[in-house]
Amino acid sequence: MNSQKVRVRIAPSPTGDPHVGTAYVTLFNYCFAKKHGGKLILRIEDTDQTRYRAQSEQAIMDSLGWLGLQWDEGPDRPGNHGPYRQSERRSLHQYWAQHLLDAGHAYYCFCTAHRLEKMRQEQKEKGVNSGYDRHCRHLSAQEVHTLHQEKTPYVIRLKMPTEGTTTIHDLLRGDITIENSQLDDQVLIKSDGFPTYHLANVVDDHLMEISHVIRAEEWISSTPKHVMLYKAFGWKEPVFCHLPLLRNNDKSKISKRKNPTSLSFYRRAGILSQTMVNFLGLMGWSLNATQEIFSLEDMIRAFDLKDIHLGGPIFDQKKLNWLNNQYLQKLSDDQFVHHLKTEVFKDDYLRQLRPLVVERMDRFDQFVDKFAFFFNGELEFPDPTALVPQGKTPQETIEMLLGLAEVFDEVDAWNLDAVKKVLEDYKTKLGWKPKDYFMTIRLVTTGRKDSPPLAESLVVLGSDMVKDRLRRAAAKLS
Ligand code: GLU
Repeated sequence: MNSQKVRVRIAPSPTGDPHVGTAYVTLFNYCFAKKHGGKLILRIEDTDQTRYRAQSEQAIMDSLGWLGLQWDEGPDRPGNHGPYRQSERRSLHQYWAQHLLDAGHAYYCFCTAHRLEKMRQEQKEKGVNSGYDRHCRHLSAQEVHTLHQEKTPYVIRLKMPTEGTTTIHDLLRGDITIENSQLDDQVLIKSDGFPTYHLANVVDDHLMEISHVIRAEEWISSTPKHVMLYKAFGWKEPVFCHLPLLRNNDKSKISKRKNPTSLSFYRRAGILSQTMVNFLGLMGWSLNATQEIFSLEDMIRAFDLKDIHLGGPIFDQKKLNWLNNQYLQKLSDDQFVHHLKTEVFKDDYLRQLRPLVVERMDRFDQFVDKFAFFFNGELEFPDPTALVPQGKTPQETIEMLLGLAEVFDEVDAWNLDAVKKVLEDYKTKLGWKPKDYFMTIRLVTTGRKDSPPLAESLVVLGSDMVKDRLRRAAAKLS
């Protein structure tokens, strides 16, 4: 392989908490780039404005930085292929969509949401799912002109071949062939003028000279669409390599209901960065048959994409804890103390706690006992049924807790106003008695009936920890 040419990328969407899956994909891309003297590019795929969360981009960068997975080019590291935020590349996406229109590979589609819904209903009744019926593919130039004159909203779609097959090649899976008739005339530019994931991803990968697309398995079904786009543009495809999905213990795709998925949560819960890197390195890959503990440098040295095995790797908390214990024991006295001071009893965290605790303690020796929940990861509930208020069922309580975690997921700026508003709105929506509602949340998030003010405590605890406690309590009840 020409080592000068290796350029890989990670392309996270800033839509929520920084995900362990993002770190996993980054780690493998990073090792591959380092191994071949190539470059890792961080591209922020922020074109889905409805799901965009402003804080998320910074949180992604902070978490990857924590793990020591440094990219070479990105929004904060200028290179020759910027901008590195997709939303700042709109003119490029539009230019290339126009190019496809001019070359006859794409067309304007003026179908209204109403028409598309009716079409879907009819397909459903007939028991078929043939996607968009290509109504606008056959409009005459004159019709298109008139609709533009009338300022009819439109999207731009790719003309897919309707016959034959398309083969994609995955480095780990070999050839995968699909019938072209299965492929929809995908939307390239949405009615708001923003590109779809497919168009932006392909245009950007090409313009950023990406040699290998190493991403999660869930994108494999998009790859034929991408290959079609490469063909329509007449561009060379990158090498595709889809990493196996991380899974919960029950083998289902990793989900926050069963496993915390936020990197910030693990950092808060006291997992060391070297543990997390090592642990993710064991997901579908191994250094050798015997050695489970290895460093990032070891991994880079031995790394070969072809060694990745496809059996679904399990993100097992017990294993993670065991591994962390191994690393913890190896810390020197200085490192141990340093970690406690900079990650657990951090100055700024203690300062945030002060106003909440100061009226509730007479002596410093009460601090640890009364406020331990501010430092714990998981809280123990020896009798989870005690979390269920009188007159409510466990199922109602589970739904309340999961629903609250979900609304908290939507909060972008985690501050007192936002948390108070969510608590109030959700209470009104649910119609629970305030006493039952607040006490259940208090117990679940602080483990105490007599915690400092609830909303204030939740703000300090942080969104990851709060949501995880809500979800874990729900899991314990079910
Ligand atoms: N924006 C996609 C994501 O959120 C990128 C997928 C890809 O790597 O192509 O993961």
